Amino acid sequence: MKARRIVTLLSLLSAATTQLFLLGTGDVQAQAVPKTSTAKTSPVAPQREQIQAIINEAYNKFKGETRGKNADYIPELAKVDSKLFGIAVVSTDNHSIAVGDTKTAFSIQSIAKVFSLALALEEQGPEKVFEKLGSEPTGRPFNSPIAVVDMPTHTGNPLVNAGAIATVSLISGKTPAEKWNKILGFYSRVAGEKLTLIDAVYKSEAATNTGNKALSYLLAKYDRIYADPFESVDVYTKECSVGVNAVQLARMGATLANDGVNPATGERVIKRENIPEILSTMMMAGLYDGSGGWSWHVGMPAKSGVGGGIVAVAPGKGAIAVFAPPLDEAGNSVKAQEVIQYVANKLDYNIYSPASVGLK
Ligand code: GLN
Repeated sequence: MKARRIVTLLSLLSAATTQLFLLGTGDVQAQAVPKTSTAKTSPVAPQREQIQAIINEAYNKFKGETRGKNADYIPELAKVDSKLFGIAVVSTDNHSIAVGDTKTAFSIQSIAKVFSLALALEEQGPEKVFEKLGSEPTGRPFNSPIAVVDMPTHTGNPLVNAGAIATVSLISGKTPAEKWNKILGFYSRVAGEKLTLIDAVYKSEAATNTGNKALSYLLAKYDRIYADPFESVDVYTKECSVGVNAVQLARMGATLANDGVNPATGERVIKRENIPEILSTMMMAGLYDGSGGWSWHVGMPAKSGVGGGIVAVAPGKGAIAVFAPPLDEAGNSVKAQEVIQYVANKLDYNIYSPASVGLK
């Protein structure tokens, strides 16, 4: 009881201070932005000094990891420096804690799917989204046409390619350009900063995405796409080519952790009642056919992208984003998985662990 009160007191004290904290050396950066009145932080959330120390440890421990390979089915992604490595945490009371290459923009790729799901939920509500898009793990790779044919809902879920293309088709807008502007504007509000398209990545994927076009027509066969198939694939390809750095991505996750309110701008971007559906879908399918192992070992709702990013959410506490391009077989960044598992373990971020709610 007493210990818990001390923890609460400490976290209140830390939330009230807006000093800069710099721990460690080299390219380590940390900043604390004044907290907004909407910030809510779990009384058992780790303190930023602790977070900085642990992410520094993880950075040093995993920087020599050489396993994995850049995605090369999108030619532009094969050109990205595979040594780039950055880790960022943004807390729900708006502290940004970072180490490594956290200013380099990379393509958000499939992490975009989470926020298009959020936008579809804003417009249509959870019942309609569930009916139109479904929410089942496919047990197959992210670009599988077999999953579309086999699954009774014919989309799998909004985080595999077929379901994500269907999600884009469900978002309202008179023209593809109107939809795209709405999506980009929405992602920017979730990030708390204006985001832009990485044009070279978009052009590179648009020139080679025959598989996604095939998926869109397969969806049409089952009446599971709700706008023109190729136009939907084009907007989907653009959303995957949005550029983010690790801090921006962590802030996008922190908006989810903060019940839909961006911790930096104080703006409510996502309805509070839609957050559980989004996080549960991330836990179930955020790392594709690696999701079961991820849930088992890490226990944080997360989403990966073939650009090398992974964002993982600690509800009521914050989010961690890691950028490191080399991927495993399932298309998930090798280093990002290692780092997040290490940090989740040290900072009690695993939502299935009683330690995550302060019981040690
Ligand atoms: N744009 C990529 C694709 O459609 C996204 C895949 C991913 O990040 N897993 O193939």
